[in-house]
Order: sequence, then C-alpha cells, then structure tokens
Amino acid sequence: MTVTFADLTTMRVGGPIGRLMVAETSAQAVEAAREADAAGDPLLVMGGGSNLVVGDTGWEGTVIRMASGEFDVAGDRVVAAAGVDWDRLVRASIEAGLAGLEALSGIPGSVGGTPVQNVGAFGTLTSDLLESISVYDRETRTVDRWTPDRCGFGSHRQSVFKHSDRWLVLEVTFRLRRGSQSKPIEYAELAHKLGIEVAGTAPVTDVREAVMALRRNKRMVLDPDDHDTWSVGSFFINPVLAEVPVRASECPQYFDIKGTKLSAGWLIHRAGFPPGYGTQWGNGAVALSSRHALAVTNRGGATTADIMKFAAHIREGVEACFDIRLGPECDLVNCSF
Ligand SMILES: Cc1cc2nc3c(=O)[nH]c(=O)nc-3n(C[C@H](O)[C@H](O)[C@H](O)COP(=O)(O)OP(=O)(O)OC[C@H]3O[C@@H](n4cnc5c(N)ncnc54)[C@H](O)[C@@H]3O)c2cc1C
Repeated sequence: MTVTFADLTTMRVGGPIGRLMVAETSAQAVEAAREADAAGDPLLVMGGGSNLVVGDTGWEGTVIRMASGEFDVAGDRVVAAAGVDWDRLVRASIEAGLAGLEALSGIPGSVGGTPVQNVGAFGTLTSDLLESISVYDRETRTVDRWTPDRCGFGSHRQSVFKHSDRWLVLEVTFRLRRGSQSKPIEYAELAHKLGIEVAGTAPVTDVREAVMALRRNKRMVLDPDDHDTWSVGSFFINPVLAEVPVRASECPQYFDIKGTKLSAGWLIHRAGFPPGYGTQWGNGAVALSSRHALAVTNRGGATTADIMKFAAHIREGVEACFDIRLGPECDLVNCSF
C-alpha cells in the first residue's frame, strides 16, 4: 500500500511517498542518505511530521523517517537519538530528577526536529539547553559533532538546518540541571497558572502539569479526535521587521537580534480572522483553530491545495490591513502560498 504524507504528518495532508526508509538507528539513516545520494535520488528527512506540509503530488524520491528511539541519562546530560519522541524525552528527564525541559512539555515531534526551528515555548528555547548535536553532512559525507555556535540560532525560529537539506540531525545532547525546582518563570501566563509571581520558581512537575493544561486549552497537544489539533502548531511565523509599519504600532513587539518581532497571531486576529475563522469560507475544509489564530487546521478531508489557498487568503488579508507579509513557520515541500 502506498504511504502518503497525509498518513505521517499532523496536518494530515500530502501525497504519496516514492520510497520510505524508516531508520531505526543513526547508522541506518546515514546509510540510507548515502544510498539515495549515490543514486541521485531526491532526499527528504522527517521526524514526527508535526512541522511539515507536503504538496498533493507528494515526493518522488526517498523519504527517511527518523525512528531511532534510544536515549540515555548520565549525570546532568541527556543524550537522545533523533527519532525519540520529544515529549517522551521531556517526561523521562523530569522523572530522572533533571530540570530544564519542563516548559517544552507537550510539543509534538521528534528530538531531531527540535534544533531545526529551535523549538521553544513559555520562555524556553531548545538552544538554551543544547550541548551538542551529532550531524551527518551530505556534502562531505561525514558525521561530525557540532556545538550550538555552529547551528545558526539567534533570530526567531531560525537555524542553519531550517532552509537546507544538507544535514541530518542524528543525535542531540542536552545539558540540564539536577534538581526539582524550575528556573525563574518569566512567562506571565505560565506564572499565573502556577499561582506564583513572574520570576518565581516552582517544582518542575508542577510546571509540566501547568504547561500541559495551558497547551490543552489552546488545543496545542495532539488529539486525533480533535480537528483543532490537525495542524503544524503555529502555521505562520512571527514576522521580524527592521521597521514596524505605523498601522501595526499597537501590535505586541519583542526584541529580536534581526529587528523587532511582532505577534503574527495578533495581526491575523486584528485583520479580521479570529480563532475558528474559515468554516464558512471556501469549502470549509480548512479553518483557524477555534482556540488559536496562528494554527491553520484541517477540518477533515482537506488537501494541501486547500491549505495553501486558505493560507494565501489569510496572508492577503493581513497584508492589506497592516502592510506586513506573513510567511510560514513550518516547512513547505512541493507546495507554496
Ligand atoms: C499541535 C502542535 C503544537 C506545536 N507546538 C509547538 C511549540 O509550542 N513550539 C514550537 O517551537 N513548535 C511547535 N510545534 C511545531 C513542531 O512540533 C516542532 O517544530 C517539532 O520540533 C517538529 O519536529 P518533527 O520531528 O515533527 O519534524 P518534522 O515535521 O518531521 O520536520 C520538520 C522539518 O525538520 C526537518 N527535520 C526533521 N527531523 C530532522 C532530522 N533528524 N535531521 C534533519 N532535518 C530534520 C524536516 O526535513 C523538516 O524540514 C507544534 C506542532 C503541533 C502540531
């Protein structure tokens, strides 16, 4: 039976996969990449498919799905293969008496996917805790261990891996902290949920519970029965601008090393697209999540073409209102809007 991207991604759209290689170990992933490259076969690497939208025509070449599930806790270090389920690792690190990853609870996808867009939530970024990454370089055909300074982190959700297919992330090492208390919680919504002051601390188990509750409320934890979670999380990226247009001056603004970061969710909502928008638009197969204006969701039966059409509609509305052009946060392969 032909496997499609609709079967393997959280947005549940996308066409057939030419040749699927499920890599149970890093060695298998490297071998599969070397084989595909030697044969001149186009190669796409994926983990949990939670930040990936592929066109309805699919991918004619090889897809390597990272399924290497080994991880190890040693002292204050956690070493995990790329295919490990991210939230499984977060939970295990807390159970092993380590603090650091708790604010990143409940994020779908694989360990190997986290450095690609420097995954973050509630004031914590992957790059804050990363010690090294083992990487296969398709150009030099070698495996190397990188420190975070080579990864191009800095500006919002960026890394050298994000717009390149040159490297396979094979294994990630996090340096955490022995202890049961969190770092100071600077994120007001989370502090409020925990019943503490901003910059206060809390037991990491409580932080995980609070984060999961906040995420569930925003439909940001995968649930196959809930179309609000048939998404890639935030579809649009928060724009980083050298200059904020006057029309957008009321939008929440944050520092970014490349300029000023604006809230895409605020722009979308204020441009006339509140959470839930879309069920009455087009064929109704795509809509914003009922709890989150940034999440484009598949209401069931959507195609990638439907998703692209809807995303273009939102982008045009925001551009007309604020003179700001939104781009995707997820990886779009063989499709665009
Ligand atoms: C409901 C929901 C909530 C979310 N919440 C958040 C959130 O709070 N914060 C956040 O930052 N993100 C969030 N996301 C986005 C997503 O979960 C993360 O980006 C995740 O890290 C993607 O991992 P993945 O394994 O699913 O990657 P995939 O979707 O499989 O791939 C994404 C990209 O990474 C590349 N890639 C994946 N694995 C590797 C590898 N081993 N080596 C090289 N390249 C690789 C792929 O080629 C692709 O370009 C959310 C998504 C959903 C569906």
